[in-house]
Amino acid sequence: MAIVKIEKIKKILDIPFAAEKLLEKNEKEISFSISLKTKDNEIIFCDAYVVYHNVVLGPAKGGIRVSENVSLEGTRRLAQIMTYKNALMELPFGGGKSGIKIDTYKIDEFTRISIFKEYVHMIREELLAGNYIPAPDLGTDQFDMAVIYGELHKPECVTGKPVKIGGLPGRLEATGRSVSITTKIFVEEIMKEKLQNLKIAIQGFGNVGRWTSYFLNKWGAKIVAVSDIYGGIYNERGFDIEKLFKYAPDKNKTIADYPESEKITNSQLLEMDVDILIPCAIENVITKENAENLKCKVIIEGANDPISEDAEEILDKKGIIILPDFLCNSGGVIASYIEWRNAKSGNQTEKEEVFNEIDKKIFKSLFKTHKIKEEFKISYREAATYLAINFLIEAMHERRWL
Ligand code: NAD
Repeated sequence: MAIVKIEKIKKILDIPFAAEKLLEKNEKEISFSISLKTKDNEIIFCDAYVVYHNVVLGPAKGGIRVSENVSLEGTRRLAQIMTYKNALMELPFGGGKSGIKIDTYKIDEFTRISIFKEYVHMIREELLAGNYIPAPDLGTDQFDMAVIYGELHKPECVTGKPVKIGGLPGRLEATGRSVSITTKIFVEEIMKEKLQNLKIAIQGFGNVGRWTSYFLNKWGAKIVAVSDIYGGIYNERGFDIEKLFKYAPDKNKTIADYPESEKITNSQLLEMDVDILIPCAIENVITKENAENLKCKVIIEGANDPISEDAEEILDKKGIIILPDFLCNSGGVIASYIEWRNAKSGNQTEKEEVFNEIDKKIFKSLFKTHKIKEEFKISYREAATYLAINFLIEAMHERRWL
């Protein structure tokens, strides 16, 4: 899977032995089982995990994933991606993640609320102490965060809450904002192209996919294909995303039956002849089985970990440029940082200010990454990893860990 191995970065950066060890091991892992009775008197059990990868920069921060594919190993990888993301964005957070293993599409609201209440009961002290601050991720949303808040009554203990209960205007759109602004800056400033002239395909129409497509469409981009778990749609003239929003106001309604389009599968979407492909659904959708068939010029990773390691080698050989997840989708945690800071200080922030902050951080980190990539003739993922590890090493020195 596509996390750069430290050995590769060691060739261009002096990494002290202790720092390497500290980045190799997770600081803390909590495994537990959530058991409860549904309203139909069925007893269900689900495995759950919380992982803190590295917390040199601050408390562990990262979303809660609810999916039948959750595993301890997967949660570890996602926590590590969060460490790099927070470091690259220079946020005072460590890398954390949690996962609850259950099919999010098969549970009713009563069961869902019970699961989150039980989740809080199991790690209450960690949450109240502020050691780990959850947020939404795949399979979770602002209403789940509201349930967590309702159990704790401390607004800084969870981010991604609805705006009326201490959430941040713009948090909902934040991850899509960063994915879309990364695309816009890359196209206009680095490819020296016009967004309007390029064809874009987006996989996933949940939180990240829908807001990515919304901003790109607003800026004039032509989004010719979108999909969700039930299938995809294609329109060579490009979709009016606001119309799609009205057709599928949330992720419970699929876009797969949208009338003004041709039906396609998720695999067809990935292999489309487009300029830019933006996976915004799940991990490992691009593997060695389909990598050779990809026709796009650039992949912007909206989802975490959408490309397997062997697929990335094939894509590199084909000359397809990849902008890594922990750069592109960092808007969510940037906004979460503002929400957390406001919860502690009592400040309020307008949506436009949140977007400006995200745009500024993406601009800065994309250009820093580009510079390192050019200097060492490496990939964008390696360059972003170099910057993140360098920042973490400096923080380790400051904390006298090294
Ligand atoms: P979500 O649950 O809101 O939406 C997921 C979307 O993917 C839905 O449209 C769903 O139908 C689709 N999907 C699910 N399984 C699929 C499959 N097998 N094939 C095709 N499509 C499938 O999730 P999200 O919050 O949008 O997260 C998407 C990705 O972005 C995840 O990798 C997540 O880790 C990452 N991410 C999310 C945030 C955030 O703030 N929500 C932040 C950073 C990264």
